[in-house]
Amino acid sequence: MARSRPSWDLVALGGGSGGLAVTRRAAALGARCAVVDPRPLGGTCVNAGCIPKKLLWVAAQVARAVAEAADYGLELPPGSVRLDWTRLKTGREACVARLNALYARHLEAAGIRHFPLRGRLAGPGAVELEDGTVLQARHVVLATGSRPVVPALPGAELGLTSDGFFDLEVLPERVVVVGAGYIAAELASILLSLGRQVTLALGGRRLLPAFDPMLGETLAEILAEEGADLSGDLEVVRVERREPGGLALLGADGGRSGEHDLLLWAVGRRPNSDGLGLEEAGVRLDGRGAVVTDGHLETDVPGVYAVGDVTGGPALTPVAVAQGRALAERLFAGRDKPLPPPDQIPTVVFTHPPLGAVGLTEGQARQRYGDRVRTFQARFVPLAQALSRRRHPAAVKLVCLEPDLRVLGCHVIGPGADELLQGFAVALRMGATKADLERTLPIHPTLAEELLTLR
Ligand code: NDP
Repeated sequence: MARSRPSWDLVALGGGSGGLAVTRRAAALGARCAVVDPRPLGGTCVNAGCIPKKLLWVAAQVARAVAEAADYGLELPPGSVRLDWTRLKTGREACVARLNALYARHLEAAGIRHFPLRGRLAGPGAVELEDGTVLQARHVVLATGSRPVVPALPGAELGLTSDGFFDLEVLPERVVVVGAGYIAAELASILLSLGRQVTLALGGRRLLPAFDPMLGETLAEILAEEGADLSGDLEVVRVERREPGGLALLGADGGRSGEHDLLLWAVGRRPNSDGLGLEEAGVRLDGRGAVVTDGHLETDVPGVYAVGDVTGGPALTPVAVAQGRALAERLFAGRDKPLPPPDQIPTVVFTHPPLGAVGLTEGQARQRYGDRVRTFQARFVPLAQALSRRRHPAAVKLVCLEPDLRVLGCHVIGPGADELLQGFAVALRMGATKADLERTLPIHPTLAEELLTLR
């Protein structure tokens, strides 16, 4: 027989970016809140996403600097550099554990109760924990995130996803990454920089299809120059282990890949909406399993809301955080905080070099505005690489709208793209025109200045 607890104002299912944001803002507004999550706090971003990935990206950056040291007159004794993966993993895990603990302290300080258990929706306003406890809540927020997809094909279990990747005790030599999006690009680039033999199996797709083609094409060129194999267009239908060689991918047309020690699936993520009692409670899911919400993040069941990846929107931490805060403001302060405009979400892919964008791609803009779209772009070798053995191209593009040339999109690949985009995102949000950029004094010599002087 389920036991009952006193009522909560808000219970979040999931203690990731969305669940923490909504409960912390709600608690700050005086609401009595609880978070239900069996895993260490922080969700995918902290435990198996942005944070550990960024630390590996930094490791890759250091490895690249070491490899280029001699070009800048800094000689290292030959054979003096080797990757200590165990040390890197231990350091990374310690950083993640610090963040888990920090989030736990934040909740405690805000008076938010964490139930480290799995929970499910047991009807409107009721969350049942796996120990049978039922939390009665005025508002329930689904913030259960998403998980990597493993394709349903023979031998797929021989591969890992980004989740398993972070647990690897050793980093194998020959790696094949299957996928074309963010995770495939980031893992391929990091592994290449750490000296691995990398194959990127795009299955005939172009790299980073969701971005302006300039970015994916330039990155593909750079990865290939650095030795990655992007040549195969095999759409994998089966994976086999060959003894003693390794793993091989088999294609529909009978083609096969070379042999690999590690296979990583990076073919997309799926909302965590199953096993939560959602459909039984009347919460509607779309064809991809994402929770359907209205413009106020409310599901078909009054008092049940959803934020973050489980809604099927952009799977980005800042989006989940903005949604969580906006929802809390609406429920407990009666304020309608606008949600991030979908056309102006800045995003970065942490490759080497990094790339990113804010706003519309050229294709999206032309589809919407036709001939009124004008683009300005440049491709160059950045000064940051002038002495380096790696003289890779950087590229920038502005997508503007006639007659005043309001900037609709800004697309960059090159050293520093990750940091410079934030400022351009502010400019776009404020409605900047090309003339505004031209009126702004450039910072010289930087990659960012190229965006101010495009002709
Ligand atoms: P994405 O949706 O970004 O990309 C998956 C890609 O893999 C799609 O282009 C898909 O193509 C392709 N694909 C599917 N099947 C195959 C196949 N058999 N062979 C080759 N390619 C295939 O998913 P990710 O898993 O990379 O990332 C999930 C989300 O996580 C991202 O969309 C992003 O929102 C978030 N993320 C953000 C990061 C950041 O902010 N830096 C970093 C990492 C993730 P198709 O459409 O044809 O199926």
